[in-house]
Amino acid sequence: MDIKNSEADAPELAEPYLREVLGMAGLAVEYVRAEGNTLYRRDEDGGEIPVADFAGGYGSVLLGHSQPDIVRRARDLLEAGTPVHAQFSRHPYANELAAALNRIVHRELGTEEPYFAIFGNSGAEAVEAAVKHAELDRVLRIAALREELGRSTAAARSAVAAGTAAVPDGVRARHGIAAEADPAAALEALVERLDRDNTAQLDRPPLFLALEGGFHGKLGLTVQLTHNEAYRTPFRSLAAQARFVPWDRPETLKEIYARDRGAVRELTVSGGRVDVVEREFPVFCAFLVEPVQGEGGIHVLDPGFAEAIQRFCEEIDCPVVVDEIQSGMGRTGTLLASSQLGLRGDYYVLAKTLGGGIAKTSVMLVRESRYRRDFEIVHSSTFAKDSFSCGIALKVLELLEADDGAAYRRAVERGEALRATLESVRADFPEQVKEVRGRGLLLGLEFHDQSAATSASVRALADSGLFGYFLAGRLLRNHRVRTFPTASAMNTLRFEPSIELPDEHIERLGTGLRDLCRLLRDGDGESLVGASAP
Ligand code: PMP
Repeated sequence: MDIKNSEADAPELAEPYLREVLGMAGLAVEYVRAEGNTLYRRDEDGGEIPVADFAGGYGSVLLGHSQPDIVRRARDLLEAGTPVHAQFSRHPYANELAAALNRIVHRELGTEEPYFAIFGNSGAEAVEAAVKHAELDRVLRIAALREELGRSTAAARSAVAAGTAAVPDGVRARHGIAAEADPAAALEALVERLDRDNTAQLDRPPLFLALEGGFHGKLGLTVQLTHNEAYRTPFRSLAAQARFVPWDRPETLKEIYARDRGAVRELTVSGGRVDVVEREFPVFCAFLVEPVQGEGGIHVLDPGFAEAIQRFCEEIDCPVVVDEIQSGMGRTGTLLASSQLGLRGDYYVLAKTLGGGIAKTSVMLVRESRYRRDFEIVHSSTFAKDSFSCGIALKVLELLEADDGAAYRRAVERGEALRATLESVRADFPEQVKEVRGRGLLLGLEFHDQSAATSASVRALADSGLFGYFLAGRLLRNHRVRTFPTASAMNTLRFEPSIELPDEHIERLGTGLRDLCRLLRDGDGESLVGASAP
C-alpha cells in the first residue's frame, strides 16, 4: 500500500482543526527530509526547498536532524535483530545509560549520591513518574506518621491506666474536656478529639508547588502543574492541584505555606503529664521548576530565586523536581541547565534530545536518599526502557561528551552567535522588540504587545490569539525560516536550533525578523497574514 500525504488526499482525520489553524497562519507545510539544521519541503515541481529549522523538533534535535552517528546506531541495532521489547528481563543497556547519566550528573552537581533511573516514553510521562514517586514517598511517610501517632496514643493509655500520668487541667481546658472527667475518660475524650482532627489532615490530597508560567506536560496529572489556564482548568477535576508562585514575589512561598501547611497533633507523656504536641504533616508533595522556562516564554530562573526555592523546600521537606525536558541535554552548555544555577534537584526529568531526534524516550532520575524501591513494582510502561531507545540515548550522551564536551561548547558558541543577531534586531527595532532572553541554544525574542497598535490589521492579528503563529508564517513563507511562538506566551518567538546551526541560517533569521519588525512598524498586518506557502 502506498501511504501518501498530499493535499489531494481524502479529508483530514488526524486533528483536522489543528490542520486548519496551521493553514490560516501559513504553516501547514509537509516536510519530506531532514538533515543537520535543515528541513526540506517540496516545490510544485518536486524540487526540494531547504528551510532553516529553529523549532528543532521543540528541542528534541540538539545534535541535528538525521545525525549520522545516531542513524548508524539505529541501523546497527535493527540490523543486528536486537530485541527491542523484552520486558521483565535483564536490561544491561538501561543500566549502562543510567550509569552514564549518573557520571555526568555527578560531575555537574559535585556529588556522588546515586540517582536511580525510571524510564518513560515522553516528557510528560517522565514528569508524571517523578510526581507519582514523590506521592508514593509522601504516602509512605504519612503511613509511618500514622503509626507513630498510634504508638504515642498507646503509650499515653498505658501510663494513664498505670496511674503514672494524667491529663492536667490546663490541657483539659485547652481541648474542651470536662474538669471532672476521671483520668481514663479525660484521656479518651482527648484521643477522640485528636483522632478526628488528625484524620481530616491525614486524608488531605497532596498539594503541588510550581512557578507561574511553568510547563510540565499536558497529561491528566501533569497539566495540573502547567500554569497555562487554557490547558489546565478544563481538567481540574482529574488530579491534585498546584499552587503557582509568581517570579517577582518569592515571599509568596511563605504565604502559601502559612495558608496550606498541614499539622497533626500527637500525645506525649512527660513528668506524669499527658500533653499534646504539633507535628508537621507533609501536604506538599513536590515543587516543580524549570531552570529555563520554555513554553512560558523562555525565562531563565534567577539564581537567587532558585536558592530561595531550594531553602524553602529543605525547610518544609518538600522534594524539588527539576524539569530539564526543554532546557537539558546540553542545550545550555551543560547536561543540566540547573547545574549552572546552583539548583540541586531531588528529581530530574529529561526527554526530547535524549532520543537523538529518532527515539521517543524520557527518564526520571531520583536521588538515593528519596528513593522508594516499591515504585518499581507499582509503576511501569510497556514501551519504556526498550533497547532501541536506550541504545540511541547512549549514543547521544557519547556524542555530547566526546572531545571533552565539544558539543556543549558548541551549543554555547552557536547560542552566542544567534543571540548577537537577536540583540542587534532588538537594538534596531526597540519599538517592536521588547526583550531577548534565554541561554545557549534556548532563546526567545519577545515582541511588544500589539493589541493597542494604531493599525487595525495589526490589532486584529494581536486579538486573534495567534499573533506569534502569523509571524512564524511570514518567516516561513518569505524567508524559509521555521520557528514558533512559545505555547503560553504568544508574543515570544522561540529559537532552539541544533548545534549544526550554520551562520547562514542565523543571517536569514535576522533578515526575517527585521522584515517582521518593519511590517509591524508600518502597520502592515495584511502582509503578515499571507495566504499559503509559496
Ligand atoms: N516539561 C517541559 C519543560 C516541556 O518543555 C515539555 C514539552 N514541551 C514537557 C514537559 C512535556 O513533554 P512532552 O511533550 O514530551 O510530553
